[in-house]
Amino acid sequence: MATPPLVLVTSPLRQRPPGELVVDELLDRRVFVSKWFQVLYDGSPKSAKAQIELAPQGAEPGTVPAVVAVAAPGTDGGSGSAAEPQRPPAPPEPLLASTSAPAKPGAAKPAGFGAAAAPAAAPAKKGFLATRGARRGKAAAPAAAAGQVGAGPAGAADAAGAAGADAGAEVVPLPERREITRLAKVVKYNCFGDDAEDLAACALRAEEPRGHIGLFPEFAMLNHSCAPNTVNYCVGDAMVVRAVAPIKAGQEVTICYLGRPQLLPFNRRMALLEEDYGFECDCVRCTAEQASYDKVDDVYGELYEAVDEQLGPAYEQARAAGDMEAVADVQRQVEAWLRKLYGVFRKALLSPDVRDHVVASMYDAYDLLFACNATLGQGDDASSLQTCLKSIERVSAGSDLHVLLAVRYYDAVVAAHGPDGPLTKLAWGSVRRAHVARYGAVSDDMLQRLVDLNRQLHVDPMRAAQRGGGGGSGGEGPAAEL
Ligand SMILES: [Zn+2]
Repeated sequence: MATPPLVLVTSPLRQRPPGELVVDELLDRRVFVSKWFQVLYDGSPKSAKAQIELAPQGAEPGTVPAVVAVAAPGTDGGSGSAAEPQRPPAPPEPLLASTSAPAKPGAAKPAGFGAAAAPAAAPAKKGFLATRGARRGKAAAPAAAAGQVGAGPAGAADAAGAAGADAGAEVVPLPERREITRLAKVVKYNCFGDDAEDLAACALRAEEPRGHIGLFPEFAMLNHSCAPNTVNYCVGDAMVVRAVAPIKAGQEVTICYLGRPQLLPFNRRMALLEEDYGFECDCVRCTAEQASYDKVDDVYGELYEAVDEQLGPAYEQARAAGDMEAVADVQRQVEAWLRKLYGVFRKALLSPDVRDHVVASMYDAYDLLFACNATLGQGDDASSLQTCLKSIERVSAGSDLHVLLAVRYYDAVVAAHGPDGPLTKLAWGSVRRAHVARYGAVSDDMLQRLVDLNRQLHVDPMRAAQRGGGGGSGGEGPAAEL
């Protein structure tokens, strides 16, 4: 589906605007009269059970979609207006500057992490179920729509057209302070923000990627899974949500609220979800990892801590000092840890599913290994990349990281086996799967253009960062996003 926002605040910088601006816009443009505000989750059990009749896609009568371009904090706003002349001007002074607890959309998302979903839900919250009607009776396929999906970047562009109307609203009184507080909570739990739209789609549309934060009401009804069956990202003023696995009628459509922490071990994901959203995750991945936890506990936990607290910082220090021996030492230690982990996998007879989940939760170790290889000028190791690729495909298909790893794996295979070998063909199949999961079925020509763009916009900057030009390991590189 590609749904228009009730409010969308954008910034010309690659930086997510603060969530308070969404509350200001809701009040300023009187969008809070929308029926959505009766049913969106606000942290209360009552709102968790609220029901709504989902209407066909389009603006809700009586409400005015508000799309606002603003300057990022610390700028004067001039560049924003110049870059987007069709947008309304920057909003007035915040109405809630001193009267409300500021909303914190995306509270679970650490700074600098891309593509995290901010909406939250209680366990009892009514989710969004696939229906036969929504899929028009077609059998679900990996690239099929969850609901009505924009046909890649171009489809998303069409959908975005629905969301540009100006405010010409009748006069609606401002809500009471108590209601404003609830409004701030609705924003906190339901907004989505990111530092940029899909980079390749923006390049194809000849647009500069914008930081954004918005309230997409239908999207906000989706519940969380640590291995969701959709991928989502913004293009233009639309949120694109695309199925990445077959979704049966009646099955719940899910997204991931976590962003980068999706690749943490399950106990750390649980703690984050509990702290930021107040629920215990019982998704298929958490359930599987929890059931196997006693079998892999020691190595799993110790490896994570070793990478997080010792090896990651040691690598950064060694790279900054240009000490290649120390980098090689970190590389050896990470490899030894991973061998140990695989030994445990064999002993514990973990099913391939669970093993892939655990490997995805160990992604930081692989990321560190790739960074060591790059810093040492050893190039990419196709085998490690393939292991990661399989795991990320399992838990985060269609994500930026999936696309990035697929392209990186393909390049490593071409470097090792040439452009025409049988392995190279298989690797191209992985590239195709990742792109189709994210963008939908595309022509060969469009696939090649997207691959070239994603290599240029994600893979090359990441390689440069890992060679020593800034960025770093542990998912901090510019392209190490989901
Ligand atoms: Zn989970």
